[in-house]
Amino acid sequence: MGAPTSPLPVLLATAAAILLALVASPAAAFPAGLPEPPLFPNPWSAFQNLSGCHMGEERAGLGKLKDYLSHFGYLPEPSSSFSDAFDADLEAAIATYQRNFGLNTTGALDPSTVSQMLAPRCGVADVINGSSTMDRSSNATSASARGRHLYAYFPGGPSWPPFRRELRYAITASSAISIDKAALSGVFERAFARWAAATTLRFAEAESAADADITIGFYAGAHGDGEAFDGPLGTLAHAFSPTDGRFHLDAAEAWAVSGSGGDDSSGGPGSASVDLESVAVHEIGHLLGLGHSSVQGAIMYPTIRTGTRKVELRQDDVEGIQSLYGSNPDFKGGVAPTSPSTSSRETDSSLGAVGARPGIVSGGVGGVVVAVGLLLLQMLLTL
Ligand SMILES: [Zn+2]
Ligand SMILES: [Zn+2]
Repeated sequence: MGAPTSPLPVLLATAAAILLALVASPAAAFPAGLPEPPLFPNPWSAFQNLSGCHMGEERAGLGKLKDYLSHFGYLPEPSSSFSDAFDADLEAAIATYQRNFGLNTTGALDPSTVSQMLAPRCGVADVINGSSTMDRSSNATSASARGRHLYAYFPGGPSWPPFRRELRYAITASSAISIDKAALSGVFERAFARWAAATTLRFAEAESAADADITIGFYAGAHGDGEAFDGPLGTLAHAFSPTDGRFHLDAAEAWAVSGSGGDDSSGGPGSASVDLESVAVHEIGHLLGLGHSSVQGAIMYPTIRTGTRKVELRQDDVEGIQSLYGSNPDFKGGVAPTSPSTSSRETDSSLGAVGARPGIVSGGVGGVVVAVGLLLLQMLLTL
């Protein structure tokens, strides 16, 4: 064993390492208040050019943004192609989008809104048949206005009937991806188990589609249901409401298969990888009848950042699924509560309300750097 090291060099090395790590972290390097630039091109990258656009303007590319909003239900299907004019319909659609995602309701394409629109997301619409599955304004009284019960169902509230509580799923199309079958089986087994733990539903893998209630497949581009996939990022997957049972994933994504642990980062923030299990847990929510939630931490929130793992049901998800199927008597909870700050912000739908994007705290990292530096300086001086 080596001789004991002097504390001074160790302290200096530690100080340098901590300061380097803090300064090099993306949060420290990135100025607060600006949208995070996308690290990888995605089908919606051109929306960045529309940042700052507002009512009354005409700008090339606005028609494509209207296509996007139409796809997710915020604008009706156009009879011909959309124009590049920023009209009142677009302003109203953007305001609804901003309310759903807990953004400042400006009706304009401010940087935070554009940044949120670039995030990879589920292909299932947020507004179905003109009614927002994420909108709480119709029932925003008492408890729900304070941020509880923000989960939603599909219109009509379809669910699996009481005599179908043991559902079988089959992985029917995986030849377009390179993940081996055993790893895939593990991912989906864990994803279904998250929902089974909270409810009376049971799931088992079946050998073939003929034996299955739910079919899972990876497809590239158009695949016969009118919901073509769009290559890397953009839409990642979609699933149909009960009792359809179809669950499709975009074969073009850089799917990451991680371990069996809980929420964590997967691949890191600089990665273009999308955590398969996280997306699977979300889409299973749709297969069981849940729509999108406005609660940012919830599994049923529509977007997921690359390199992120989010597999644990939040209170909002649990309440949603239990109101459809009842609770599992063995369910011990163990669910992270919904962030109250996120919820209160998301229920604030007044026009021009002051809000900030969750997770961006200006000056936070700088303050830590100064504090650690002062502490270490004091330790060195007292040696
Ligand atoms: Zn979804
Ligand atoms: Zn599909």
